Amino acid sequence: MAAYYKPFAPLIERIKRDGKCLEGGILKVDSFVNHQIDPTLLQSMSIEFVRRFANKEINKILTIEASGIAPAIMVGFLLNVPVVFAKKKKPSTMNDMLITEVFSFTKQRTYSVCCAKEFLGKGDKVLFIDDFLANGNAAKGIIDLVQQAGAELEGMGFIVEKSFQHGGEMLRKMGYQVESLAIIDSLDNCKITFKA
Ligand code: 5GP
Repeated sequence: MAAYYKPFAPLIERIKRDGKCLEGGILKVDSFVNHQIDPTLLQSMSIEFVRRFANKEINKILTIEASGIAPAIMVGFLLNVPVVFAKKKKPSTMNDMLITEVFSFTKQRTYSVCCAKEFLGKGDKVLFIDDFLANGNAAKGIIDLVQQAGAELEGMGFIVEKSFQHGGEMLRKMGYQVESLAIIDSLDNCKITFKA
């Protein structure tokens, strides 16, 4: 087993039971993470994230709307710190903001992601939480926002990482603590193969 990877058994079992494989290397977990949400599983996964980042001093959780919000809130609740979600559209009421570009793997297009300077700044020690890590484009956008803000990125937690898209490899090489609760090595022929 890779030193950085500790599979979270309740999630692995649930993916085996209810995860669906789509064409193009997409895993659908709509029945417990992305559309219908299982709060009990979400709670146990969030406790696991808190345990894994216990070595860090975190004062803010950051995610990107919309699918990261649920896990991010639960982790923020457990750590008793605020949760900020970067927005995919610039709100007309928001002036002073940080902005970056992210390429979406699932939608195959680039979009802007923004965050008010008021909610991310110097002195923030940030934990990024998201549902999936694929090529790492969303994570790169978050790194950019955190750097623009002069804050520090303490770590990144993902429910599912797809190792065949290499985002995790890139982020770990950059020196970040990346914790994924399930790592999938392949979705070839619509068969889910987990990292051992
Ligand atoms: P990345 O930016 O790392 O390439 O992709 C991560 C983002 O794309 C996640 O925030 C997630 O919303 C979406 N995503 C990537 N792969 C999958 C997948 O297999 N299933 C689902 N449901 N979303 C994915």
